[in-house]
Amino acid sequence: MTPALPATTPGCDAAPVLRERGQREVFCGLTGIIWLHRKVQDAFFLVVGSRTCAHLLQSAAGVMIFAEPRFATAIIEERDLAGMADCNEELDRVVDRLLARRPDIKLLFLVGSCPSEVIKLDLTRAAARLSVKHAGVTKILNYSGSGIETTFTEGEDACLAALVADLPADTTDAPSLMIVGALPDVVEDQFLRLFADLGIAPVHVLPARRADDMPPVGPHTRFLLAQPFLGETARTLEDRGARRLDALFPFGAEGTTDWLHAAARSFGIDEMHFRRVIAPGRERAKRAIEHSRDRLAGKRITFLPDSQLEVPLARFLATEAGMIPVEVGTPYLHRRHLAGELALLPAGTLLSEGQDVDRQLDRLRAARPDLTVCGLGLANPLEAEGLTTKWAIELVFSPIHGFDQAGDLAELFARPLRRRDVLRV
Ligand code: SF4
Repeated sequence: MTPALPATTPGCDAAPVLRERGQREVFCGLTGIIWLHRKVQDAFFLVVGSRTCAHLLQSAAGVMIFAEPRFATAIIEERDLAGMADCNEELDRVVDRLLARRPDIKLLFLVGSCPSEVIKLDLTRAAARLSVKHAGVTKILNYSGSGIETTFTEGEDACLAALVADLPADTTDAPSLMIVGALPDVVEDQFLRLFADLGIAPVHVLPARRADDMPPVGPHTRFLLAQPFLGETARTLEDRGARRLDALFPFGAEGTTDWLHAAARSFGIDEMHFRRVIAPGRERAKRAIEHSRDRLAGKRITFLPDSQLEVPLARFLATEAGMIPVEVGTPYLHRRHLAGELALLPAGTLLSEGQDVDRQLDRLRAARPDLTVCGLGLANPLEAEGLTTKWAIELVFSPIHGFDQAGDLAELFARPLRRRDVLRV
């Protein structure tokens, strides 16, 4: 049965949204450990989960042969699940052993999973108890990466929200800027250089690269979200008095300009100075996007709900690369954080939130876009049906933010189209 689709209205900021609840095809929040453990270099992620969780981490993150790993799984065995063992005692033993062997760990995250939630293991209490025991040496926090009703980028959101609750209070009267979201170091350095050239200081990043460098927060903190999936982190920062600067997300020449501009306006930076500082990067970005534009312009694209990057990426592809979004699906639509993005999506784009995978595939097969951005599990079957696909998770792992990555971002979408053309020939 074809679902009744809501009518579209001009512009997408007020467009109706097709809300679906059904079977979903996404990774769970444990996936975030793969990029977070590389970012915070003296942190360790201890998943309290099952063998399934261990396998997911092992196969997704690979085995580190040359370095000590910075993530592991404390396996909940069947007797734990049956309530025959005291999981808290076992967890304490595992953590004690780990920290005795690895004094380099300064920040330990106990990461909850579906099994730990099912047996109602209280990791908040466990983290508080273990923090007292290891005070002065290792900070211990917890968050949930469970796949029950969550999607994979929520793992980072939950992790950063846990960090925010623990940030030191900023007691100064001077305004400061915080960039929020785990970015590759090279991209973070580019942004820090641009803010320094603009004359904005101090600028902090969350998460910092080391546990003892985490930024202070207070009523004078202004923050820019670097990722669109940090709803809970933003709320926690606002609870601590910080103010979010509203902007497009820093994808492409226009998104990056708007993002930097929001900070420049907030810090009273002269408009001419702002334009002078960003002009070279902005021009480089536009030229780089131009290389892929021929391949992308006029092509129809559908995003299946996966990474929560869908709306800003569709905006980038529509406004800067000339693509035509057919359906933009996202696991959760955070209207407040995405208002500017939605306003720039072409009228007629179907917005959907959540997933009922069979119904979504029916719509996809009817629309047959040139390119479908989807999860790994759906990509191969769709390719077999003659649809060209792009893995959504690749967009989370690749450096795609900022002026100097704008060309690579466009190229990530052009490459599967080029491959399709070559195969057809
Ligand atoms: Fe599977 Fe849940 Fe473990 Fe994720 S947290 S690997 S969804 S059991």
